[in-house]
Amino acid sequence: SEDLFNTGELSENFQTRGVRVVVRCRPLLAHERDHEQQCMTLDKESKSVTLQSKNIDERMRHFFFDEVLDEGCSQQEAFARVQMGPMVESVLAGYHATVFCYGQTGSGKTHTMEGFTYRASRGAASPKAQLDTDPEQLGLIARSISLLFESIKRKKKAEPHVTVNVKCSMVQIYKEQVYDLLNPTLMDPSSTPFSTTSFGRPLARPPQQVLKVRWNRRREFYLENVFEFQCATADEAIDHFRFGVNNKTMASHKMNMASSRSHSLFTVIVETAPASAPEDAIVSKLCLVDLAGYERSAQSGSTSGQLQQESIFINKSLFTLRKVITSLADPHYRGMHVPYRDSKLTCLLKHSLGGNSLTLMIACLAPSDAYWEDNLSTLEYASKTKQISNQVAVNEDPKNRLIRLLRERVLFLEHQLAEL
Ligand code: ADP
Ligand code: MG
Repeated sequence: SEDLFNTGELSENFQTRGVRVVVRCRPLLAHERDHEQQCMTLDKESKSVTLQSKNIDERMRHFFFDEVLDEGCSQQEAFARVQMGPMVESVLAGYHATVFCYGQTGSGKTHTMEGFTYRASRGAASPKAQLDTDPEQLGLIARSISLLFESIKRKKKAEPHVTVNVKCSMVQIYKEQVYDLLNPTLMDPSSTPFSTTSFGRPLARPPQQVLKVRWNRRREFYLENVFEFQCATADEAIDHFRFGVNNKTMASHKMNMASSRSHSLFTVIVETAPASAPEDAIVSKLCLVDLAGYERSAQSGSTSGQLQQESIFINKSLFTLRKVITSLADPHYRGMHVPYRDSKLTCLLKHSLGGNSLTLMIACLAPSDAYWEDNLSTLEYASKTKQISNQVAVNEDPKNRLIRLLRERVLFLEHQLAEL
């Protein structure tokens, strides 16, 4: 604490943390039984993936990651091995954390994050009937929520004078529009909108179908008027999540898109404060992101002309995400322009890449040789992402932080005086 006043920016609590990257390969699916799977080898011990070349004159490629999960890895094991536990604990301690799944369509991203099974709906039956929950198959999101509430219970026992408040929101980005998946009127405009937000205050405006991304005074992006629901229990939060997943499925039908072409972001906001001073809350968030899959380019011939233009537009966010990753991974990027503002997704994930967040990327692979190009591309972006480092710190209000540091300084000086 000696150079407390020399740092200028009060940045001495920041720590450098690299983005962690875990690879997960799904099993072969029933209809793929006769697919070849010769080219890719996963090694859990050395945490590496080896991709054999397809033609002899190419070299073999080795990739190393923080963890490698093969097709035998259950949902529960995946949750443990990606170290979701420590991440959830960090969020409760005041850090931002982000998990995002990256990979081609059909590589297991939604399975990893959601893990719900969709039953074929009979006609236009109630959308709720489409979602099955096998507790074994539940993905990272539901498991993280459960763990968070368990940790909160423990924290409240250990520190009875602390209050912890949890809220959640869920949005979808499709063709550069942000839709609020927890908006109760999204799918049925005739239904009665909720009269209050989660804060118990009346809504400033009627619920909006398309949300605006704004920039606040603390130099962060946020979504204007997004529905945030207060959650007292894990079940409540999981219910909101389930509601959002249903809305996503219905929206896909209505907008005539494959849901794999949209990004979905589930955010858990945690506010921790001393009961005596609720205005001193530390606010942190856990973002859980299921990215759009990229369409297979090599086989479909979409690398040329109009099709490519179309897929770039549909996935402008994905395209920009890759540019952001590429520029951050470049050792010469320091101080150079990173194109966060070019897409909605990268605005909302700005703090997660090169910013103030503990970040985990789960790169999803499909085992069959038919996906060789896609797997190579995923492995290359995953390797780049591993080069990115973030600067993380507890999300204290800057004013409270200054007060705390000054108090510590006073104590230190008093202590020195007493020793004279
Ligand atoms: P994506 O979201 O990347 O497009 P999905 O998660 O929808 O891919 O997965 C595609 C298919 O593969 C689904 O039928 C899913 O149930 C199955 N699948 C994905 N990962 C696994 C896994 N680890 N174990 C069993 N089935 C899986
Ligand atoms: Mg998906």
